[in-house]
Amino acid sequence: MTDGEILSVVIELEKWLGRNTGKALNTALAIEEPGGSSPQWVDLLSHFKVKPVSEEERFRTAKITGMQRGASPEELTDLLAAITKSMRSKIKKLPWPDDNALSLRIDRLRSLTDRLLDENMAAYRKIVFPKKGMFAHAKEAAEKSRNEPGWKASSEAFVNCCRGCGAPRINPSHLDCEYCGEHF
Ligand SMILES: [Zn+2]
Repeated sequence: MTDGEILSVVIELEKWLGRNTGKALNTALAIEEPGGSSPQWVDLLSHFKVKPVSEEERFRTAKITGMQRGASPEELTDLLAAITKSMRSKIKKLPWPDDNALSLRIDRLRSLTDRLLDENMAAYRKIVFPKKGMFAHAKEAAEKSRNEPGWKASSEAFVNCCRGCGAPRINPSHLDCEYCGEHF
């Protein structure tokens, strides 16, 4: 494999990682019922061979934690772990490039993969879990506005994604996509 060929594979891998991470996060966030599910979510879990948590368990966890929306954090953790594992095995298959810049780019992809689970779960928890002391108020407000026209909570719960690859933009201080390099 030439460096040029390796580079095109690396670009594909970067986009694959961004696309699947963004899809995992936003499909989980699209679920309005705390600890609930959706056909898209079930498809995504099954695509990555993630065993769903029982409904009873999901709803119990959601109730205890006061989650306000979104798929079970346990399922999302397993899904992101499966994406990470799949990515690591794809990176392992890459031949060693001669070009130093290209080998640095592969290192960067490896480090992005290593941080993926923690960073995205932190972003997810921030959105779905109530802020301390705010739970009762937020819950009441959510229930009230749910019955009103023009309810915006679900669109606000989505994470903005990169136009280039679909990766979630979880760090507002980043001006370029960490996955594919596209300027936000
Ligand atoms: Zn991107």
